[in-house]
Amino acid sequence: MTRKGQTTRLVHADRFINQPNSGAVHSPTSNSVLFEFTDVQDLVDVFQGKQMGHVYSRSSSPSTAALQNMVCDLEGGVGAVTFSTGMAAISALFLSLVRQGDHLIVSRYLFGNTRSFFENLSNFGVEISWVDVTDVRSVEQAVRQDTRAVFAETIANPVTQVADLSAIGRLCASKKLLFIIDTTMTPGVLFDAQKVNASLTVASLTKYYAGHGNVLGGVIVDTGCYDWTHFPHIAEMYKGADEKQWGLTQIRKKGLRDLGGTLSPHAAHQIAVGMETMSIRLQRSCDNALRLATYLHGHPNVKQVFYPGLADHPQHFLARETFGGMYGGIFSIDLDENVDCFAFLNALKLVINATHLGDTRTLALPVAHTIYFENGPEERAAMGISDNLIRFSVGIEDIDDIVADFEQAFHIIGA
Ligand SMILES: *Cc1c(COP(=O)(O)O)cnc(C)c1O
Repeated sequence: MTRKGQTTRLVHADRFINQPNSGAVHSPTSNSVLFEFTDVQDLVDVFQGKQMGHVYSRSSSPSTAALQNMVCDLEGGVGAVTFSTGMAAISALFLSLVRQGDHLIVSRYLFGNTRSFFENLSNFGVEISWVDVTDVRSVEQAVRQDTRAVFAETIANPVTQVADLSAIGRLCASKKLLFIIDTTMTPGVLFDAQKVNASLTVASLTKYYAGHGNVLGGVIVDTGCYDWTHFPHIAEMYKGADEKQWGLTQIRKKGLRDLGGTLSPHAAHQIAVGMETMSIRLQRSCDNALRLATYLHGHPNVKQVFYPGLADHPQHFLARETFGGMYGGIFSIDLDENVDCFAFLNALKLVINATHLGDTRTLALPVAHTIYFENGPEERAAMGISDNLIRFSVGIEDIDDIVADFEQAFHIIGA
C-alpha cells in the first residue's frame, strides 16, 4: 500500500499508530503515576532496560508514549521524548549531553529564552560561539577540537533569518558533530530534518502542534542520522545493543527523569488532538502570512517587511528549497518612524496583542519592549531590532478579515 498523504496520516495517527482498544479513536488518558507488575522480575527488567514498560510516570506513561509515537512518525525518526514545555526539552537536551569544558556552536539568531538558557549554560563552564547560521562559513570557522554540537533554528524570529541547514548538515557530517535543530517554526509538515542530516530536533509542541493556545509541551526527536558511537559523553550504562537509541536513552534518564520536566497525560492528549489538524492549519497560516506580508510590503507606513516568502528576503531561495515552497506563518514589520507603534497595535481589533505563536488566531507583539527588553538598546540595535518592530504570528482566519483589520487600524491612527 502506498504511504498515505500527510493530512490523512495526521488525522488518523492515533488509530493507525497506537491502535487503542475498544474502537476508541483516541488513546486513553492514563492518569496512573505508578504501574503494577504481577511478576517482580518484569519490574526489575524494565528498571534495567531489558524490557519496555512504564514504572513511574515522571519517566514515561502510556499517554506520553502515545504522543511520542505520533510525533516520531510525523517527523520520521528513531524515537521521540516529550516534555512539559519546549524550554524543558531544550534545557534537558543540553544538560544531559554536554559537560564543563565542552564547546558549542550556537546560532546568533535565537528565540530569546533559548538564548538566555545558553548564556546561563556558559556560567557552568560550557563555552559558546555565537555564529551567523545563514552562512556555513561562519559555522566552519568556529569548529574546534572540543566542539560537541551545532545548534540552530530553522526560521528565526523576529527577523526571520533562514539557516543554511543543508550546508551546516554536510559540515557536521564531515566533522562527526551533533547537529541539533529547533524546528518549532517549521514542523515535519514543512521540513524534513533527515534531508539536512540533523541529528536531533527539538520543538515546542505548544505552538503549531497543539495550535490552540491551551496547552504547553515540548519534544526531542532523534532522526537516526547521527552515529552515537562518535559522541564521547554517553554513559556506559546507556550503551545498549541498538546504537541509534544511545542519545535518547541518556536524554530520557539524565534529561527527563532527573530534571523532571514531564508532560502530563492530559496535556499529551490535548496536543495529540491539536496535531490532527496541524497540516491544514499550517498550510492556511503560511498562505495567510504570504498574503498579509505582500499587502504590507510597499505599504506607505511600513518601512520593511521581514518574511522569507518575499522575493527581496536575503534567504528567499534557500527557504523555498528547504520548506517545500512554504515560508512559515511568522513575519515582522518595521513601521515607519512617524507611526506610533503602540497606537497602531491598540487600533487592531481582530488581531490580538499577545506573545505566543503558531496559534489559530493572528497575534501581534512589539518586539523591542517585550521579548527583547532584557537585551538592552545596544544589543537590540546590533540584532536589527528597532523600537517599531512588530512580530506577527498569522492565524487561520479568513485573510480578507485580517487585511481589513490592518486597513482600519492604519486609518484610525491617521497614517
Ligand atoms: C516558544 C518557543 C520555544 C519554547 O517553547 P515553550 O513551549 O514555550 O517552552 C522554543 N523555541 C522556539 C523557536 C519557540 O518559538
